[in-house]
Amino acid sequence: MRRRRAAPPRPQHAPAGGSRVTIRTDWTREEIAALFDLPFNDLLFDAQTIHRANHPRNEVQLSTLLSIKTGGCVEDCGYCSQSAAHETGLKATKLMDVRAVLQAAAQAKDNGSGRFCMGAAWRSPKERDMPAIIEMVKGVRQMGMETCMTLGMLSEKQAAQLAEAGLDYYNHNIDTSPENYANVISTRTFEDRIDTLETVRAAGINVCSGGIVGMGETRADRIGFLHALATMAHPESVPINALVPVKGTPLGDMLADTPMAKIDEIEFVRTVAVARILMPGSMVRLSAGRESMSEACQALCFMAGANSIFTGDRLLTTPNAGDNADAALFAKLGVTAMQAAPQAHLEAVAAE
Ligand code: SF4
Repeated sequence: MRRRRAAPPRPQHAPAGGSRVTIRTDWTREEIAALFDLPFNDLLFDAQTIHRANHPRNEVQLSTLLSIKTGGCVEDCGYCSQSAAHETGLKATKLMDVRAVLQAAAQAKDNGSGRFCMGAAWRSPKERDMPAIIEMVKGVRQMGMETCMTLGMLSEKQAAQLAEAGLDYYNHNIDTSPENYANVISTRTFEDRIDTLETVRAAGINVCSGGIVGMGETRADRIGFLHALATMAHPESVPINALVPVKGTPLGDMLADTPMAKIDEIEFVRTVAVARILMPGSMVRLSAGRESMSEACQALCFMAGANSIFTGDRLLTTPNAGDNADAALFAKLGVTAMQAAPQAHLEAVAAE
């Protein structure tokens, strides 16, 4: 079996201010709380300084997400319209045909995407699904795009199969803090999630893992969520989602029409900035919830170190900002689509 090389150690070099950026996995919750408490401008300045020392400035990676198997999921994630346990009116579909997936990938590439992410609403993939999944990975890679999949929990064998097919990233979110986790999901544990991340990492696949804020959690939970990510081998991609409350889901119904239905934008930007400081080498991705953010909030997120977004009109099942809105915002901000694969950039910086 071809073993893919695990991601190299992240570069450590001096930001403009002269202090060295070191990659740490020994962050304490107290240190993270102190970052959250910084005056907003100080936090943004520190995050942007660290960002510039580790990533190309004014560049944002564009990824496209396709739901290759929608709905009917046996898990009960409280935010998700795809759970069979929730009455959201979403129609469940079978796994998409490989050709249709590759057509969608080709279109995403034409629209400037550098990474194509494929998501299936499963607890874990079945053996019978793996041949088609593997063909999808190989086909998208042949187009010269990075591949990412999110399929639920993986066995070691499945992770090895995906690594062999050339999968670049596997997404599996921890969602929230260990303490808040049971308020959100009952059908699998926080430890199950960590086990899958370790299986993926051991197979040599890059890890994409983040979570959702605005689920009614406390700041202590946001601290615990980032602490969990920053004290493991840092995921190469860290999606930070803002909850999109969907009617019929437990969290959507609980939060709809309350002041907590939308997270405070300043607190959201703080969360992005703290993620950037804790995990300097990772791509921090603005994911779900971006369509309801103001342009100013998105601009602040880029200032705070977010450097990856999903493009297109839809995420898995919820609306997204749309290509035209993104192009207009990028033009206003002087931001361009990241051309080089981020890993290639980091390797180049590390070799300097
Ligand atoms: S988030 Fe994923 S695992 Fe959870 S219910 Fe939705 S599709 Fe299933």
